[in-house]
Amino acid sequence: MSLNQDKSKLSEVEHIKEKSKFLEGTIQDSLKDEVTGNLYAQDQHLIKFHGSYVQSDRELDKERKGQKLEPLYSFMIRVRVPGGVATPEQWIVIDDLATKYGMPTIKLTTRQAFELHNIYKHNLKQTIKEINASLLDSIAACGDVNRNVMNTVNPHTSAVHDAVQEAARMVSEHLTPRTTAYYKIWVNEEQVVGPNEEAPIDEPIYGKTYLPRKFKITFAIPPYNDTDVFAHDVGLIAIEEKGRLLGFNISVGGGMGMTFGDETTYPRLGNVIGFTPTEQLTDVCEKLVTIQRDYGNRENRKLSRFKYTIDRMGLDFIKNELNTRLGYDLAPALPFKFTTNGDSFGWIKGVNNKWYNTLYIEGGRVKDNEQFQLRKGLRAIAEMLVGGDFRLTGNQNVVIGNVSEEQKPKVEALLEQFGINAHQKVSSLHQHSIACVALNLCPLANSEAERYLPSLISKIHSILEKYGIGNEPITIRMTGCPNGCGRPYLGEIGFVGRAPGKYNLYLGASFNGDRLNVLYKEALSEEEILVTLDPLIKDFASQKSNNEHFGDYIVRKGLIQHSHSKSDFHLS
Ligand code: SF4
Repeated sequence: MSLNQDKSKLSEVEHIKEKSKFLEGTIQDSLKDEVTGNLYAQDQHLIKFHGSYVQSDRELDKERKGQKLEPLYSFMIRVRVPGGVATPEQWIVIDDLATKYGMPTIKLTTRQAFELHNIYKHNLKQTIKEINASLLDSIAACGDVNRNVMNTVNPHTSAVHDAVQEAARMVSEHLTPRTTAYYKIWVNEEQVVGPNEEAPIDEPIYGKTYLPRKFKITFAIPPYNDTDVFAHDVGLIAIEEKGRLLGFNISVGGGMGMTFGDETTYPRLGNVIGFTPTEQLTDVCEKLVTIQRDYGNRENRKLSRFKYTIDRMGLDFIKNELNTRLGYDLAPALPFKFTTNGDSFGWIKGVNNKWYNTLYIEGGRVKDNEQFQLRKGLRAIAEMLVGGDFRLTGNQNVVIGNVSEEQKPKVEALLEQFGINAHQKVSSLHQHSIACVALNLCPLANSEAERYLPSLISKIHSILEKYGIGNEPITIRMTGCPNGCGRPYLGEIGFVGRAPGKYNLYLGASFNGDRLNVLYKEALSEEEILVTLDPLIKDFASQKSNNEHFGDYIVRKGLIQHSHSKSDFHLS
């Protein structure tokens, strides 16, 4: 139980967690119920901890209602990939599962996970079982726990990448829930629970009610901030000296989500509070998680993320509490510098003499179409690649990594054969874009994102070309609602869906992910977006100083007052 909560005021989800027997709930009964394609109400919350959400095809909802049918329910399964690195064999398994049980596409998320969509209830168990057989899993991919731990995927950039990757793996493992319910339900009931064993084991870090809300940790290796380290509850910035990993600066309190019309909610960037050597990193992460466990708001889920705990209790309180729980004082932060939060595309040779090819994946959706066969091509590469890997980036792209000199031409030939290389010839604007799933699958979406953003970007790109800056990289992010899955408040241009075809326009984030954007205009149609951006781009093209990015220009010209990232977001 949390230190600061009146039990009578706890949110409904807290009671569900407490009664769930460490997340088991009645999920098995729900799965057997053939009357509905959904789960029982309490299990709809609990299934998130198992890495799945219920969805429906919203375009069919009205028609089915008219036929007195329930919505066409299906499930999304999110597969954790700690640090974003999957083997070719794991890629093939995910590809197979998409064909066998779901929508025949793979979504690469902004947090380095795979998502499978349109899995019907009767296929849910078998799909998760096969994910586990591939040595991946979906436990804690969603829910009120620490989720997939991210890491910069570009090993070519730094000799310390392997050490940082190992740290990410350790933190992920340490903070994975210990409940046996996941394995009991999805993997093998008999093996996990003995005949007399009723209660699953304890959760030494989380306790019976887990965290007040989701918790996200990421690593980044400067100068690359490709995981948006300040957008996470805990961000760990690798500090190296002469090719040796010293440890990590610690950022706390980042988070993107907010609710329209409720100014007590806001996106916030993390504050760097100190430095830890690698040896103490896992303990530091555990203590931060337990501070949020004990002080986070369990009454109002809109205000329950760590960022609100920090602003309510004060950053100094959090630092003191961390020092007390650690039994020593955190060292001061060390200098670092980020230059970009985007990906670097094309072939690059790594410090280990292996090759890495970062491929642009539109909207993170791996699928085939008439122009090119992305899914078939990546599958063919996975079947051919020996010793290589597939690295999911925090920008929804993929790196074909650890490719030997000998295999590089074979990978290249397959990229040509399936038309994937041609697809890479998109604008810098496209390359620097992120879109969440939104309509028609996300139940919270107000508008389109993934299916619409590429065409809008093409129109914005035409404006850039008109003013002679067609190659300008500008980060553009779009989400279908203010929850922030696509980190829209870190786009130099951010679009957040208000209603079908209407978007709030945010401007002025930095190119390296250390400054939020600010609301510029509300509820714009496509035509209004283009009319609004045209003169701004025109002036930017003629007035920008050397190497100045669009977001910095917007701030320099005073077109927005930039937010200082905390609760003043709405006042800027
Ligand atoms: Fe759904 Fe909103 Fe997240 Fe987009 S940002 S995936 S619309 S919840």
